[in-house]
Amino acid sequence: MTYTVRAPAKINLHLGVGAPREDGFHPLLTVYQAVGVCDDVSMSRSAGWSLRVDVPDWIDPELVPLDGDNIVHRAALLLAAHHGLTEVHAEASIAKQIPVAGGMAGGSADAAAALVALDRLWELETSDDDLLQIAGVLGSDVPFALIGGTALGTGRGELVEPVADDATWWWVAVCHDVGMSTPAVYRHFDELHPDASPEPPSADDLLEAIAVGDVHALAATLHNDLQQAAFDLRPDLAEVIAFGEGEGALRGMISGSGPTCVFLNESADDARAVASAFSEKGHETVLVTHGPVAGAHVVTYA
Ligand code: ATP
Repeated sequence: MTYTVRAPAKINLHLGVGAPREDGFHPLLTVYQAVGVCDDVSMSRSAGWSLRVDVPDWIDPELVPLDGDNIVHRAALLLAAHHGLTEVHAEASIAKQIPVAGGMAGGSADAAAALVALDRLWELETSDDDLLQIAGVLGSDVPFALIGGTALGTGRGELVEPVADDATWWWVAVCHDVGMSTPAVYRHFDELHPDASPEPPSADDLLEAIAVGDVHALAATLHNDLQQAAFDLRPDLAEVIAFGEGEGALRGMISGSGPTCVFLNESADDARAVASAFSEKGHETVLVTHGPVAGAHVVTYA
């Protein structure tokens, strides 16, 4: 029996960041959206543990660890420990489509997918609340990858609440070969904002734009507190955003901590036109996608 679970990448429509807490984490007020760029994680029965990773030609396989540093292995150990199991038995494989270290939470998606797949494989019937709690220990973005859709994230991002969102929003994601370190971007944010408020900025206007399904209002209210820090570390990103907006995207911004740049468009056709312009300019990995889509879900029962 093999369970394959698909989990989506995320875009932060709003990423409000407060001053670091005593535990070192930054308090966030974020609005996540799951988009249709997904990784698949498959789990089969096995006497031991093994992990393989398949990547498309535009992802460097060296970027994804195969040992205990892979978040899928950590997810397996944590789920097992939650049920009093001391060993993990599974043949795990990850089919990646989400850029690595791109600010689209690819590792988090894999962790969420692994939790759902192993819960089925090992017949654990873990409650939703427990899965969300385990996910939050694995990483701040992992609970969102479980629920998908559009959601408000608070705490350090791990406390998630679904947001009603009936629209289809069309995105272009421009990926980069060299990723960025999320901790380095946060460190630079702290240098830029030594007097940051402990309360991250609210997303009320953006949530209103989603509630009424107004793409122009959403474009006007997209917000990422990490953008300036990402621009400072990678000045080329500001040019990428200016180019996309010049080609007709309603608004471009850095996804999460970067370096992926995402562009909101008025329609699918507009998104395809912006993507073509980037391709003609020589950008190799340009994805057209839409959100919101479902969180981690089983796609095969073979
Ligand atoms: P976020 O948006 O949550 O900050 P990200 O998209 O920027 O995440 P990831 O793709 O999750 O970054 O990868 C961050 C690092 O995690 C990688 O550089 C890699 O070393 C490590 N990693 C561990 N497991 C995985 C995995 N399954 N897939 C990708 N990277 C992984």
